[in-house]
Amino acid sequence: MPTVHTLGGAKDPDQLGRTLMHEHVFIQDTEIMANYPHLWDESAEIDNAVARLQALRDTGISAIADPTVLGLGRDIPRLLRVAARVPELTIIVATGLYTYRDVPLTLHHRGPGTTLGGEDPLIPLFLRDLTEGIADTGVRAAFLKCAADIHGLTPDVTRVLHAVIAAHHQTGAPITVHTSVTNNTPLEVQDLLKAEGVDLSRVVLGHVGDTTDLDLLKRLADNGSYLGMDRFGLDLAITAEQRIETVRALCAAGYAERMVLSQDSCSHIDWFPPGVKEQILPNWRYDYLSGTVIPTLLSQGVPQSDIDQMLITNPRDYFTPA
Ligand SMILES: [Zn+2]
Repeated sequence: MPTVHTLGGAKDPDQLGRTLMHEHVFIQDTEIMANYPHLWDESAEIDNAVARLQALRDTGISAIADPTVLGLGRDIPRLLRVAARVPELTIIVATGLYTYRDVPLTLHHRGPGTTLGGEDPLIPLFLRDLTEGIADTGVRAAFLKCAADIHGLTPDVTRVLHAVIAAHHQTGAPITVHTSVTNNTPLEVQDLLKAEGVDLSRVVLGHVGDTTDLDLLKRLADNGSYLGMDRFGLDLAITAEQRIETVRALCAAGYAERMVLSQDSCSHIDWFPPGVKEQILPNWRYDYLSGTVIPTLLSQGVPQSDIDQMLITNPRDYFTPA
């Protein structure tokens, strides 16, 4: 039986059901938290996360993939405390490193292109998470995550991509890359992955749903990757209506097999002062896709079979070992 590793142990990917492919729970700077614990109410934030994730589960979503990795404050023991109280929601976690430009200073003097050189120390860390478990939790990561954003493929961003590729080749774990449609990173990431022998059907190009450029999206999909239509409710660069219309048009053009849906939402993020996220982005929450986006797509003629393809079949296939 093929298995996908989750917070609750190994599962058959067929049992995932409706899966949101890019949702966070907690995003925070762990060093600031450790030094200024008065900024954070642990038990209240865990209660908040439990309530929000339970409300998401109540909308019929049965699994989320959480790409919170190094650089975003991954904390699997805390996530386990949340998951224990939302037992019917499957949570799939990732390994990797999130940076737009530089690797952390601890990696500056070792690894490829540095003074000491040698194998990238990131690779055995990623492999440990994927094959043994994260910290001492026994929870195994099921996918790899990295980022390329406003600074493009800087030397360190490229270095992380190469470490992700190495771990992918050794384990077969699928890859999610945070990309930016403000530049050419989606195509550049695809080119690099392809040149390094990665099967692009094992890759989600995160956040490409931030554009309405259908020609670009079709080109990226034709190259084989899943398009991350994964920021519904994050109404900054484009509106929800534009995101919905883009998915509708791509479904009509036969691209449901190459899209995954999500919101890139979170229960807590320390990138905004408390309360501001809810104020300026009221739709950026876990239940927006089920409550608004899916009903709108259906009302605009997208067939239920396309919705199921994007929410059930594509996530299942992504997490089914090649
Ligand atoms: Zn994200």
